[in-house]
Amino acid sequence: MVAIAIAGAAGRMGRSILQLVVNRSDLSVAGLLDRADNLSQGIDAGVLLGCSPLNVAVSADVDVVIAVADVLIDFTIPAVSLQHAERCAELGKSIVIGTTGFNDTQKQRLAVLAQKIAIVHAPNMSPGVNLAFKLVELAARALKGEADVEIVEAHHRHKLDSPSGTALRFGEVAAKQLDLNLKTDAVYGREGQVGARPDKQIGFSTIRGGDIVGEHTIMFIGEGERLEITHRATSRQNFAAGAVRAAEWVVKQPPGLYDMPHVLGIDKLV
Ligand code: NAD
Repeated sequence: MVAIAIAGAAGRMGRSILQLVVNRSDLSVAGLLDRADNLSQGIDAGVLLGCSPLNVAVSADVDVVIAVADVLIDFTIPAVSLQHAERCAELGKSIVIGTTGFNDTQKQRLAVLAQKIAIVHAPNMSPGVNLAFKLVELAARALKGEADVEIVEAHHRHKLDSPSGTALRFGEVAAKQLDLNLKTDAVYGREGQVGARPDKQIGFSTIRGGDIVGEHTIMFIGEGERLEITHRATSRQNFAAGAVRAAEWVVKQPPGLYDMPHVLGIDKLV
């Protein structure tokens, strides 16, 4: 039985994860965390899911929430996820972080904490997306020097960061194969007299609106042909299922910073 605590429990992802954990007889809900001013404070998990009481209430106290947990699954905001990772490291608990939008300093701090505990940090927990990372790696390697890479992503109107963490990861995967650096060779939208497209560039375009769960297309645009690798998420279930799978996996790992390909066992593919 793996005891799972959830941070951001009242959020879109938090609720999806809670539903999955509650549906599994081999997992238990160890605690639910959300911000002190969230309306969910003190509310039972059953109310969050619209079912009978589950005898676990939402709290704002991270120590209480992770006290009896084996692992914390965190889908909040970067600064908060990092605080939770700090506390997990102090208490020797594993953590799965799905939150996107970490800056370089925050990522570096996470790597330091991963010397003490096992951490999965993945901008996208979907198995399909993680396989797509591998397909993009293969395509970029094969088409190096022959195709321009452009990345288009679309998400719901509430998403805070842009481009998505997943789009950036697709860019990093392609850039590595093409000997490019996203810090100097990426362009985020184009407007006005921007001039001809340089060869050494990866372009990002972002769409925001309505209830789009998450769509990414990576284009390899050559002379006379275009290869497109597209992933469309049609519900949050795949992210939630990936997060729960990561939680079950990470509790058995030694300290280290892991990503979904490690969890899925596809890190050594191609
Ligand atoms: P959301 O806004 O619906 O939920 C976030 C929750 O975090 C809210 O309930 C909020 O109250 C809570 N929160 C904020 N500050 C907190 C604090 N100090 N302590 C405890 N809880 C706090 O957002 P969401 O759609 O669930 O997305 C959350 C994050 O997950 C975003 O960064 C999003 O980009 C990312 N995400 C990642 C994946 C993935 O597969 N890795 C998939 C979907 C979303």
